Amino acid sequence: MAELFEIKSVDRKVYQESLQDFLPAEIIDAHTHVWKAEHQRLRDDAFSRVVSWPSRVAKDNSVEDLVEGYRLLFPGKSVTPLMFASVYDADTIHEMNGYVSECAARTRYPALIYAHPTWTGKELEKRMRDGKFLGAKVYLNLSAAYIPEKEIRVFDFLPPHQLDALNRGGCVVMLHIPRDGRLRDPVNLAQMLEIEKNWPRVRVIIAHVGRAYCDEDVGDAFQRLSVTRNMVFDFSANTNDRVFEGALRAFGPERCLFGSDMPITRMRMSRICEGGRYINVVPRGLYGDVSADRNMRESDPPESDRTTFFMYEEILAIRKAVERIGLRKADVEAIFQKNAKRFLKL
Ligand SMILES: [Zn+2]
Repeated sequence: MAELFEIKSVDRKVYQESLQDFLPAEIIDAHTHVWKAEHQRLRDDAFSRVVSWPSRVAKDNSVEDLVEGYRLLFPGKSVTPLMFASVYDADTIHEMNGYVSECAARTRYPALIYAHPTWTGKELEKRMRDGKFLGAKVYLNLSAAYIPEKEIRVFDFLPPHQLDALNRGGCVVMLHIPRDGRLRDPVNLAQMLEIEKNWPRVRVIIAHVGRAYCDEDVGDAFQRLSVTRNMVFDFSANTNDRVFEGALRAFGPERCLFGSDMPITRMRMSRICEGGRYINVVPRGLYGDVSADRNMRESDPPESDRTTFFMYEEILAIRKAVERIGLRKADVEAIFQKNAKRFLKL
């Protein structure tokens, strides 16, 4: 049977020379998506508010594929994922959550419900309880359709009444912040600080270090957020070692979590920034026609032959940041395992 994806000698070399000894034997991946293609009905406008390139990497990601991906990418390691769905169409949300809940029951991996902002607090509580979810994953594409993409604010898809419910239960919430300004955006920063102040029992994970993929995305965010004590930051789908360094210095290694955003980190790519915009450079033809996507570019040999996985690029960047700061092995273990274990109460 064909492998889920190909491991080349360039990948083995990166893993063996730079990652294997750096990583602890047990890893917790705080950010993964699992869903089945049969549950995902994509409408024409499915990607109108979000980038479309991730859909080129995997049509779905069953829990079996997730586990197999870890086996291929991290030989000799044991990886526990925090799982949630990937919902583009609100009509599919119950099937998607049902599948995640079933996977969690089968594997005993922790999971989050994909919450719709129109649910009442009571509905959210009941659904989390019934599905045995640790908390919720919220996403900007479920905000009311009349709100223009650029104007979406955190409270449009993580409404105060749901924060009340999450706060009562001391639940986890995975927050991918909106807006073009990303982490430096003043509206995002104000609402992040508001959540920290008004709902102190909610365990907030800010995904992808607040989508600060390029240096320009940070602004004065680390300074402004340095007063926070609760929220933690996951490093998923980010390869910027300077951003990781900033987060590690501002919040300490105990508030930084490894996460991957699987399955997109199965992608073979290296990321560059140009004029404050991130660009994924991929081997020519590997992901179809990407000419219309401003976040994608293609490369040719010999450069393309050296391209390894997004996952490895992310961890190499974490390693760079860790070494520049001079963190200890115990801190690395915290980032890749202990912090998530404590934060998720596993
Ligand atoms: Zn994600």
